[in-house]
Amino acid sequence: LIELDRAHLIHPVSSYRGHERQGVRVLKSAHGATVTEANGHQLVDGFAGLWCVNAGYGHDSIVEAAARQLRELPYATGYFDLGSEPAIRLAAELAERAPGDLNRVYFTLGGSDAVDSTIRFVRYYWNAKGQPQRDQFISIQQGYHGSSTVGAGLTALPAFHAGFGLPFDWQHKIPSPYPYRNPVGMDDAAITAASLAALKAKIEEIGADRVAAFYAEPIQGSGGVIVPPRGWIKAMCDLCKEHGILFIADEVITGFGRTGPLFACADEGIVPDLMTVAKGLTSGYVPMGAVFMSDGVYDVMAEGAGMAAIGHGYTYSAHPVSAAVALEVLRLYEGGLLENGVKAGARLKEGLTSLADHPLVGDIRGRGMLYGVELVTDKAKKTPLPAESQPARHIFDRAWDNGLVIRAFPQGVLGYAPPLCCTEADIDAIVERTRKTLDQTLE
Ligand code: PMP
Repeated sequence: LIELDRAHLIHPVSSYRGHERQGVRVLKSAHGATVTEANGHQLVDGFAGLWCVNAGYGHDSIVEAAARQLRELPYATGYFDLGSEPAIRLAAELAERAPGDLNRVYFTLGGSDAVDSTIRFVRYYWNAKGQPQRDQFISIQQGYHGSSTVGAGLTALPAFHAGFGLPFDWQHKIPSPYPYRNPVGMDDAAITAASLAALKAKIEEIGADRVAAFYAEPIQGSGGVIVPPRGWIKAMCDLCKEHGILFIADEVITGFGRTGPLFACADEGIVPDLMTVAKGLTSGYVPMGAVFMSDGVYDVMAEGAGMAAIGHGYTYSAHPVSAAVALEVLRLYEGGLLENGVKAGARLKEGLTSLADHPLVGDIRGRGMLYGVELVTDKAKKTPLPAESQPARHIFDRAWDNGLVIRAFPQGVLGYAPPLCCTEADIDAIVERTRKTLDQTLE
């Protein structure tokens, strides 16, 4: 398999390019929070795949829901005025649980196309409002909003931009609130004030009547699990509303129990104009994403698209098998998984916090079942690990050998996003194996 993979399978990102390649690690099976390699090695999945298998692996009821739907009706497009029972029911169930008046749902295949769709929707919206000059978009440094070519301009990763003239000149960024490394220090109020000032300055620079939308993740995931202060997102949302700018919450990672409740926005007391989700929506068993909006936004947007609807979609829009899976996953979340996630998350927080005195640990941050541990070589100076020694790659490898899947971000942040089904033993294993990995890194 390793030879065939090397010869034929293209991976979007590989840590081994330009290095002696160890080759791909092949997973064979999984149950609960445990994954097993083809060679029999078992690991606790502290990252739920790619922060997506929120329900955990091996739920028979999800498999049965998919199988039932595959037998009965494996495909019906949601593109035109056609539909399927699970897609319609799922839209209704989600609408009932979404923050505020976000009672309309547009299904995509994942997070990138959900975000990419919002760019079109926003433009349709402002065209219909008679304000076509509102065509400028703002997002945040360290933000991740997918890798589709247009949406990638909102993502703050230079590697995603090179060669495509990205970000486009209508895609702007403001600094991340990043408490651990914020120039204003770690005080919550000062951080929020600095972000507000940066957004205000950017709006003024662009022209208040030209800004179409602002994107924020409630917690910046791929940027290194950066947790803004409580109230930060509400302050940003309020500022956008004051200027008539659409506020878009990207809950692709934070949605579906990752931070505790079903949606982080609800927990923060905000109702965004648009909200994107994916990952936990189907818990990674099959692909699906979604964009939420209110009737008010939808009606204007559809008018702006100049069609009977929005004229933007996919062969697999509102796929019935994905919808059937999502309905079952939602039932499991509400049948105890969200609750277990909150309990397991408290234990994980306590466990990771116990690593604070480790010489390599500079910062521990997170909420619910989403944490980042930032490693430094000098705690007082907050000196990052030396990039040239590829710390992330080595730490990831060591953790793997110790039976732990984590994410190691290039800047030396360890990412944790375990399945919500974790037992106490799973959580303790995650913490103990992290400690062992850090001790080995010191040697
Ligand atoms: N938005 C956010 C906040 C994400 O974290 C991601 C993926 N990590 C995406 C969008 C893109 O989702 P996908 O990989 O499913 O296309």
